Amino acid sequence: MASLRVKVRVTGVIQGVGFRPFIYRIAVNNGLNGYVRNMGDAGVEILLEGEKEAIHNFLKDLNAKKPLLAQIHEVITTELIGENEYADFKIHKSSEEKTLSGSVIPPDVAICSECLKELRDKNNPRHDYFFITCTDCGPRYTIIDKLPYDRENTSMRDFPMCSFCQSEYTDPLNRRFHAQTVACPSCGPKAYLATQKGELIPHKDPIREAGRLIAEGFIVAIKGYGGFHVAAATTKDNPLIRLRKAKHRRQKPFAIIARSLDAIKSFAEVSPKEAELLTSYTRPIVLLQKSREYYLSELVAPGLHNVGVMLPYTGLHYMLFDSVDEPAFVMTSANPPNQPIVKDNEEALKTLGEVVDYFLLHNRRIAHRCDDTVMRLHGEKQVFIRRSRGYAPAPIILREKAERCVLALGGELNNTACILLGDKAFISQHIGDVENIETRSFLENAAKHLIHLTNSKIETIACDLHPKFTTTKLAKELAEINGWRLIQVQHHYAHVAALMAEHNIREIVDVCCDGYGYGVNGEAWGGEIIFSSRESSEFRRVAHLEEQTLIGGDLATRYPLRIAAGILHKKVAVEDWLLQKSQYFPHGEKEVQLVLQQLKKSQKIIKTTSCGRVLDAVAAVLGICHERTYEGEPAMKLESAALKGKDVLKLDPIIEGNALNTTEMLLQIFENREKYAMADLAFSAHAYLTKGLATIAIEKAVENGVKAVGFSGGVACNEIFARLMRKVVEAAGLKFLVHETVPPGDGGLSFGQAVFAGFSSFKP
Ligand SMILES: [Zn+2]
Ligand SMILES: [Zn+2]
Ligand SMILES: [Zn+2]
Repeated sequence: MASLRVKVRVTGVIQGVGFRPFIYRIAVNNGLNGYVRNMGDAGVEILLEGEKEAIHNFLKDLNAKKPLLAQIHEVITTELIGENEYADFKIHKSSEEKTLSGSVIPPDVAICSECLKELRDKNNPRHDYFFITCTDCGPRYTIIDKLPYDRENTSMRDFPMCSFCQSEYTDPLNRRFHAQTVACPSCGPKAYLATQKGELIPHKDPIREAGRLIAEGFIVAIKGYGGFHVAAATTKDNPLIRLRKAKHRRQKPFAIIARSLDAIKSFAEVSPKEAELLTSYTRPIVLLQKSREYYLSELVAPGLHNVGVMLPYTGLHYMLFDSVDEPAFVMTSANPPNQPIVKDNEEALKTLGEVVDYFLLHNRRIAHRCDDTVMRLHGEKQVFIRRSRGYAPAPIILREKAERCVLALGGELNNTACILLGDKAFISQHIGDVENIETRSFLENAAKHLIHLTNSKIETIACDLHPKFTTTKLAKELAEINGWRLIQVQHHYAHVAALMAEHNIREIVDVCCDGYGYGVNGEAWGGEIIFSSRESSEFRRVAHLEEQTLIGGDLATRYPLRIAAGILHKKVAVEDWLLQKSQYFPHGEKEVQLVLQQLKKSQKIIKTTSCGRVLDAVAAVLGICHERTYEGEPAMKLESAALKGKDVLKLDPIIEGNALNTTEMLLQIFENREKYAMADLAFSAHAYLTKGLATIAIEKAVENGVKAVGFSGGVACNEIFARLMRKVVEAAGLKFLVHETVPPGDGGLSFGQAVFAGFSSFKP
C-alpha cells in the first residue's frame, strides 16, 4: 500500500472553534500520524503520515465534518519527501510563524446548550459558573490580544487552569479538549458586587443578588464579554426616568434582554424567522413590533412601534433572572456621551458611578470592546442596523478577488473599519461616531488589530470625501506614514459600491437615501439616484430629491420645524403657524422671529437633497417630533406612526428635470393636517416619496439598459420604504436589491469604500 507524507495548510475561521481537537479526532480515526498546530497567521498547519487512501478520507472529513463555527477558506496540500517521523498524532505547540493571510479568529459566541445544561446541573462542577464555556461557545474576539489563539495570548492567561480543568483540556474525548476559555469556579474569573463607589459588597451569590436589585428598581452596571451594560427594570417607570436623566438620553430607545423567548412573546410579536435570529448563536438585538398587550414601561422605547430585544448570551445573563419574575431588563451599552462602550473596571467606576447604584463586576480584562449587534427583519430579509458582536470579525466573502489590499476607515457616524483582502472583507465591530480623540483611537486600534489578525499587507487606504472628517484626517496621516495610496470615496458612491459587491452585480441604478453625505462638489447630499456601471467604471448622479434649505444649518437638523418652515414658506405664510409652535424652539418667539427673517434671504442658506431631512419636516408638521434627541429620531417615529396608516393623499410624483419635488408633498400634508389622521398622512408621505424615487429609478434603469434597481443608505432600514419601493420596481419587471450582509446605513460605508478602492472597475 502506498504511504504518503503531506503538509496541509488551512485558512479560514479555524482558531478558537475547536478545530485542532477536530483534526486530532479525524486523523486518529483515519489511522494517521503527525501533528496539528495553530499558526501566527490565524491558520492551521497539519502534517499527515499514512496510507494514501487514509489521507484522501481525512481531507473528505475535513470539509464534511468540520465544527459548527469553523469556516474553511482554503486547503493547500503539499506532498513531502523523506521518511516518516511520527509514531502517533499530536496537537503541537502553536507557531508564531505567519506565512498566509486572510484567516481570522471567530466572533464571540453565545453560550451553547450543553454548557447551559451544565450551568443548571447541581451535580456538575461548573454548576452556577457564570462564565462556563467550551470549544463551541464563549468569548473569542473580545479576549484575544494576539495570535495564535492560545490561552497565553488572551485575557484568560491571568487564570491558570486547576487540575480539573487541565484534565478536560488535555482529554481528546472531552468537549473542552484544547478549549482556551475553559474555567471553573475554582480557577476562572470571579464575579462580585460593588457599590457605586466601587466598594466590595460581600455576597455569596452576587449575580442573582444583582438581578434582585434590578428588579427592585436599582440601576446596575454589568460587565459582560465586550464591555459594560447598564441594566434596569422594564416594568417600572422610576428607574428609567432616573436612567434617562443620568445618561442624558431623553428619548433614545433602550435595548432590553428578556429571560426567554416565551417572555418576549408576552410583549412583542415574534415571527418564526425572528425567533430563529433571537436564538441563533450570534444572539443579536432584534427590533420587534410591540404587541397589543405590550405592558413594559413606555419609557423603554418611547414613541416607537418596536423595541430592541435580545436573549441571554452568557451564563451570567441567565442567572440574573433566576430569583426574579421580571420578563426583561433594560440592557443598554454603557458609554458616556460620544464615547465608546466602557470596558475597564476603573473606567467604569469613574464614568458610570453617577449613573448607577451598583456594579456587577468580574476580574477578567476585556481585550477588545464590542457592542451588541442590532437587526430587524423586513419580511423574511434580515437588515443590519449595526453589525458587531457575533458577526465581527468574520469575513464577508466576495465572488471575486480584489486587485489590492485595502484598509477603509468609513465615514463619521455609526462607523466601522474594513479590510479588503483577496475575496474577503473583514468589517470591524461597531465603533460609533468618530468625532473625538477617544473614538478616533478606538477606530485606529480596531483597524490595527484587524490588520494583525488577518496578516494583511495594506497597499491602499480609503476614506470619505469630506475634508473635515476625523476619519479623513486619520486616513491621510496613515497614508503618509505607511506610504499607502489614498483613495477618497464619495459617501453615496460607497453605499452603492457596497450593494453592488454584496450582490456581485455589474450595473445598477440605486436609490440612496440617508441623512447627510458630502457631495462630489461639497454639496449636502442625501436623497440621490445613482447610476453605476463597472463596465464603464462610472458613477453618475442621475437624479435627486428637490433641494431644500437648512435654516440655521445644524440647528435645522436638531429642530425639524426649521426645515419644515424652509419648505413651506415658498408656498404659504408660515408666520402664524410657527408662532403657535414657539414652545418647540429653545428661545421661543424670539427664535421664531429670527427664523422668519432668515426665510426671507433663504437663497444664501445651505441647501440639501437629504431624504432624512424631508422625513424630519413631515414629522414636525404632523407634531410627531419637534426635537431630534438622537440620530434618526423624527424619521423613526414617523415610520412608527405610518405603520397604522394608509395613503389618503394619493399624490402623483412631481418630477421636475431630474429632481423629485418635495415641496408640494409637504404642502399637501400641511394643508390637510386637520382633515386626516396623523397616521394616514405619515403613510401618504412614505407613499409619495417611494413612488417618486422608484419611478425615476426605473426610468433611469430603462434608459441605461440596467436590469436592477437598488436601495441603500440609512433610510433603507425603514420597512415601509423598502416594501413600497420593492412593489413598484418589481412591477416594472426589474430586480430590486437591498443590503443583506452589511448595514444599509453608515455601518456599511467602510465596506463600500474598501470595494470601491479595491477594484479598478469601480474606481474610474
Ligand atoms: Zn459551550
Ligand atoms: Zn478550573
Ligand atoms: Zn450614509
